[in-house]
Amino acid sequence: MTPVNKPTSPIPMVDLATQYSAIQPEVDAALLAAVRAGAYIQGPDVKAFAAELATYLDVEHVIPCANGTDALQLALMALGLKPGDEVITATFTYVATAEVIALLGLQPVLVDVHPDTFALDLDQVEKAITAKTKAIVPVHLYGQGADMESLLALAAQRGIPLIEDCAQALGASYTLSNGQTARLGTMGAMGCTSFFPSKNLGCMGDGGALFTRDAALADRLRMMANHGQKVKYRHDVVGCNSRLDTLQAAILRVKLRHLDQYTANRQTAARYYDEGIQGLQGISIPMRDPASTHVFHQYTLKVHGGKRDALKAHLEAAGIPSMVYYPLPLHAQPAYSSARYPLGHFPVAEALCDQVLSLPMHSELTPEVQTYIIQTLHSFFTP
Ligand SMILES: *Cc1c(COP(=O)(O)O)cnc(C)c1O
Repeated sequence: MTPVNKPTSPIPMVDLATQYSAIQPEVDAALLAAVRAGAYIQGPDVKAFAAELATYLDVEHVIPCANGTDALQLALMALGLKPGDEVITATFTYVATAEVIALLGLQPVLVDVHPDTFALDLDQVEKAITAKTKAIVPVHLYGQGADMESLLALAAQRGIPLIEDCAQALGASYTLSNGQTARLGTMGAMGCTSFFPSKNLGCMGDGGALFTRDAALADRLRMMANHGQKVKYRHDVVGCNSRLDTLQAAILRVKLRHLDQYTANRQTAARYYDEGIQGLQGISIPMRDPASTHVFHQYTLKVHGGKRDALKAHLEAAGIPSMVYYPLPLHAQPAYSSARYPLGHFPVAEALCDQVLSLPMHSELTPEVQTYIIQTLHSFFTP
């Protein structure tokens, strides 16, 4: 690798402006058409986007909603759980996953994660199951699948629905040992995703969706997301107001057509990082689970020897942003701490919070910028 100079423009973590400029005519035309059509709530683009995403994912039902957090909440609401019912999820995830459990008066039951996949540790999930366990929420963190093979077997054996948090892994697929392949988010009872701008399929505001193969659940989810009504002004269940707005749907229809290219770009960038970084002592590159594709919502290193924060500072001094997803596990957050989970209870998640470092990763990343980042990483370890 020939040394390169610092890029002249600032290096972003994600580059939504450049992504937009590449598809500006398509997005602008779609937006203008939606604005002119005047159906801003539940307009035709919302239905069309849901149908197109269903085709893309090869799933029977896509239910758009207002954001990824609402998708998770709606999934739990659709199961009709009682206060105190338990929902198992990872302590190492974005807060939304546990937030909705707590908001609904359910009991979040946290478990530790696998040190290489960052996803639910199956032994611990099994041990955490009680008679009150009513759902398991695996998170496909950073863009790669949790151990769906084992989770699906466990869920079937115990009769507990899986709600996949697919907010970081839209477009990834998973192959079971019987050779059957499906998109992540479509294997459990329900899948949830987010169209937050920086997600792999992002809109220009908030958005989310649920996926399911079950027609009855799909019906309930649609009703729940629209004030519990199927027929206007007749409210069969307590619902909420959670809709994907028409302008966002119009943007998402355009961007869905580019999703496979965006994913391929992320995967190419990930391989480029791998090649530049893998020889470095003291850093682990992201592990690949052969059962899952990895769509690299994040490219996350593990930095060993307590050097993560120093490396982050070294990068920052060279004009390179990096992020820690996540600095604290849920059981160390004031809102979710409990006597059940004292510090030290989930050693893997706690260690990861001190080790993980995500590098700039997006669909417009160039080899020049990556070479500069790799070079700067090397200069930290061998100054
Ligand atoms: C982004 C994200 C969410 C929440 O999505 P919003 O659209 O921001 O509400 C939930 N879970 C995970 C893992 C996420 O990354």
